[in-house]
Amino acid sequence: MTKSNHQTTANPPSSEAHKSLSMYEAVLARFNQAAEIYNLPTDIADILRVPQKQVKVNLPVMMDNGKVQVFEGYRIIHSTYLGPSKGGIRYGLDVNDDEVKALAAWMTYKCAVAGLPLGGAKGGITCDPRSMSVGELERLTRQYTLAMVDVFGPNLDIPAPDMNTGKREMAWIVDEYSKLKRESTPGVVTGKPVTLGGSKGRESATGRGVMIHTLEAMKKIGIDRKKSTAAVQGFGNVGSFAAKMLHSKNITVVAISDYTGAYYNEKGIDLDRALQHQKAHKNTLEGFTGGDKISNEELLTLEVDVLVPAALQNQISAEIAHKIKAKLIVEGANGPTEVEADEILHDKGIIVVPDILANSGGVTVSYFEWVQNKQGFYWQEDEVNNRHDTYMQQAFEQVWYNSKQYKTNLRLGAYITAFKKLEKALRYRGNY
Ligand code: NAD
Repeated sequence: MTKSNHQTTANPPSSEAHKSLSMYEAVLARFNQAAEIYNLPTDIADILRVPQKQVKVNLPVMMDNGKVQVFEGYRIIHSTYLGPSKGGIRYGLDVNDDEVKALAAWMTYKCAVAGLPLGGAKGGITCDPRSMSVGELERLTRQYTLAMVDVFGPNLDIPAPDMNTGKREMAWIVDEYSKLKRESTPGVVTGKPVTLGGSKGRESATGRGVMIHTLEAMKKIGIDRKKSTAAVQGFGNVGSFAAKMLHSKNITVVAISDYTGAYYNEKGIDLDRALQHQKAHKNTLEGFTGGDKISNEELLTLEVDVLVPAALQNQISAEIAHKIKAKLIVEGANGPTEVEADEILHDKGIIVVPDILANSGGVTVSYFEWVQNKQGFYWQEDEVNNRHDTYMQQAFEQVWYNSKQYKTNLRLGAYITAFKKLEKALRYRGNY
């Protein structure tokens, strides 16, 4: 690689062009905007615009009815320039290679922003986990692990949970991978149960990170947290822990939701009651009586200080962005804001803490889990949390600084923070 050709040729697409962007195109749109502002050298931009490796597999699984069903599985490694690749595995009917590719690229930027010695990857299986039995899910997860046995590895590529996967699936992967490799390999995944080498504090880490970034942003923009309110979309791993953590800092969580509906209580939702309700109702909030039922759009456009989208991608469209009243958006989910909404929110003076910063607490404690697996020595929860908070505060400061230095929003400031580290790593690594 040479230092010549410093101009990147890509122009950010116009907002008209953003309308029907796929998820990966949405990644590229932001990438191109940030690359232009930072003046990312063309050779580095060309390398980072595409994933390093893409694996697609077909997985035959014996279903409970005695018939074989074939599922599509993916693992996309966007980069290994800062270290082995890291990224979750999601199950869902909408999972496809474009989505996994986008999520893999975000992992590269997320790890770089958080200051972790890791690259980025993501995996997924197209399936309907809610309609499958535990046995079917276990056989599917083991088949996927078998298909990926040469892709995964503690020094190669380390999966973790994402939507519709959790410590149960991670435990199956550790077990299958260890059997295939004929040695105990807890470090092949993170987000495992603590008894199998998981880290204390991992399950709550993404929600904890959302809380830290909320507090940091509130300090910068002068919101008094004790008088503040929040609405949280999604009540799964990220949303439920984020809500609990915000509540623990005296922020009143007035609305929560899941795929079955949204609930509003101006005095604050009783979160323990919501969690108990969820446990007793097949993991849903359906029928929750601790608040008035409102629509998803009403939740997103409530008059609150903080909005935490922690469910799915593409929730904040341009139309919704025009109606948003929150002062601060902290993106717990990956890709919740569409490209054309960025400018609208910016013009309205709404601060958006972007996904690649806001939800990086999960991968940060995943990194700690991987370190503990390598050491064979396990930390107390306080040590995990304190280290996590320090990493997150440092990452926030760097992104804030770069956004000011380059006179841009926090999202592009986060990409620029990542570019600085990736550019250095690629230059040191040299060329063929
Ligand atoms: P999860 O499966 O535990 O929870 C998802 C939640 O969203 C559930 O409560 C579900 O009911 C809800 N939901 C689904 N569709 C909805 C809709 N239309 N309206 C409202 N709610 C809806 O998943 P998770 O692990 O919490 O992940 C959520 C998001 O956070 C994803 O974008 C994921 O990529 C991202 N993320 C997760 C982690 C992690 O550590 N789990 C880390 C970083 C980013």
